[in-house]
Amino acid sequence: MERAISGVKIECLKGDIAAQNDILAVVNAANALLKTGGGVAGAIHRAAGPGLYDECRSLAPINPGEAVITGAYRLPNEYVIHCLGPVYGRDQPEDELLADCYRNALKISEEKGIKSIAFPALSTGAFGYPSKDAAKVAFKTISELLSELKAVNKIRFVLYDEKDLEIHEDILSKLY
Ligand code: ADP
Repeated sequence: MERAISGVKIECLKGDIAAQNDILAVVNAANALLKTGGGVAGAIHRAAGPGLYDECRSLAPINPGEAVITGAYRLPNEYVIHCLGPVYGRDQPEDELLADCYRNALKISEEKGIKSIAFPALSTGAFGYPSKDAAKVAFKTISELLSELKAVNKIRFVLYDEKDLEIHEDILSKLY
C-alpha cells in the first residue's frame, strides 16, 4: 500500500529491512549497546558486516527514544539509523519514548538530507509492544511531522509478517 500525504509518499510492504535496495536510510530496532541480536538487529548486522559492529561500539550505549546514525557498510543503503525503542511495560512513558524514536530518526534524516527512510515496527518484537498500539503511535507521530519535512519524501514501513502488514495498512488507510 502507498499513500501520498503532504507531498510525502508513505508505504507499507512485507519484507526484510535488510533488503531495501531503493532506500537511503534503514532504521535498526537496536538494543542499548547497538550490538547484533535477534530480529531486526540481527538481520541488519549480519547483512552489514563487521564494519557496522565497529562503528556502533563507539556510539553505544544509547537510551530509549534515542537515535544515532552510522554508515551501512555491506547493506544496499547509505545509512543505518539505530533507534532504541522502549521495552513495553518497563520504559515509561512507552508511547512517548516510541514516538521519540520516529521523531529522532526523521530529525537526523532531515539534518543529513536523506530523502528516503525505511522503518521496521520498532519495539514490537523482543520488546513486546502490541503491534496495533505501536503502529498507531508510529503513524500519528509521523503524520504530525509531514508538513515540516523538506528532505524526506519517502517513508516506508517494512513489516515482517502478513498480520503486521494488515495492521499497518489499516491504520495508514485511515490517516487524515
Ligand atoms: P524490538 O527489540 O525493538 O522489539 P525486534 O527486532 O525484536 O525489535 O522486532 C521488531 C519487529 O520487526 C517485529 O515485529 C519483528 O517481527 C520484525 N522483524 C524481525 N526481523 C525483521 C526483518 N529482518 N525485517 C523487518 N522486520 C523484522
